[in-house]
Amino acid sequence: MMRGMAITVREDLAGIPDYVPGRKIPGAVVLSSNEVAGAPPEAIVRAIAEAAGEINRYPAWSSDDLVDKLTERLGVDAARVAVGCGSTSLCQQLIQAVCRPGDEVLFSWRSFEAYPILAQVAGAGERRVPLTEDHRQDVDALLIFVCNPNNPTGTVVHADDVTRLIDSVPDHVLVVLDEAYREFITDPDVPDGLTLARERSNVAMMRTFSKAYGLAGARAGYLVAPPEVAAGVRKVAIPFSVNRLAQAAALTALDIADELLARCAAVVTERGRVHTDLRALGYDVPVSQGNFLWLPLGDRAMQFNEHCVERKILVRSFAGAGSRVTIGLPEENDAFLSAARDFPR
Ligand code: PMP
Repeated sequence: MMRGMAITVREDLAGIPDYVPGRKIPGAVVLSSNEVAGAPPEAIVRAIAEAAGEINRYPAWSSDDLVDKLTERLGVDAARVAVGCGSTSLCQQLIQAVCRPGDEVLFSWRSFEAYPILAQVAGAGERRVPLTEDHRQDVDALLIFVCNPNNPTGTVVHADDVTRLIDSVPDHVLVVLDEAYREFITDPDVPDGLTLARERSNVAMMRTFSKAYGLAGARAGYLVAPPEVAAGVRKVAIPFSVNRLAQAAALTALDIADELLARCAAVVTERGRVHTDLRALGYDVPVSQGNFLWLPLGDRAMQFNEHCVERKILVRSFAGAGSRVTIGLPEENDAFLSAARDFPR
């Protein structure tokens, strides 16, 4: 039989990085993905094991029990809540639900790598605002991501600036506060996105179980937004994408939140120590409110990356910009500091 044209994928996907397996370095110190170093407490492992016994059944379509627990904890109506397969999925769902072709997604740059990729996949435009520029100028966008604290720099936007931004954009522009690292913040001037999402009609807030709660491998995050936005986010979700094991793990994580959040305090102490030591070594390192530090090494970033890999330490580096290192266990941080000490400056 004659065949017609070959199948092609969208040409505009050409610029998006393909996911190919990374280099495997057995026994490496992994400080590249802003995870927490500690293994999950027994209660979470048990909850996942129990859920595994029912894995022949689909999970609750809209994560009902998890939504119930979240609404109780957060003091918001269920209509304002959406649970997603990680907050990365919620970013994608937000863009899909809010942006039409030609609309723009705006974010500071450099920020979370997924923002430009997800905007492009959804067919929306993007605008990258240099980190130092005044947010108020940018009112043409439809959706603005404010990553607070910012990944990879760890820097924060204070309450007065966030409020000024929200006040200065038209009502049809959605301001999304991405608070993936909320639980590591110690600066009292950083606003609480939950309060803003409750009070303002054009603000959404996203958090995740991947970081402070230590469930990066389970994939669960949540969003609080105006009811019609939350409904849009729920509608565009891939059915059952928050799987049974993830729901069980997140539910238990909320039950033992105090225990998990106590680990964040240890990360914060180590963050201060590693920051001080790096500065003493002569590195320029901004104050970070995340579980990571940013070394703006510019053209030397990839050289620094190789230097770390040779010492079996994995960090996340961006060519021409810098390297991000996650705060790990004290001995892992010591190994990183020793590598940083050896790097010719
Ligand atoms: N937002 C920011 C700023 C992040 O750094 C990350 C993860 N690196 C996420 C969202 C997504 O996290 P997850 O999908 O695991 O919830």
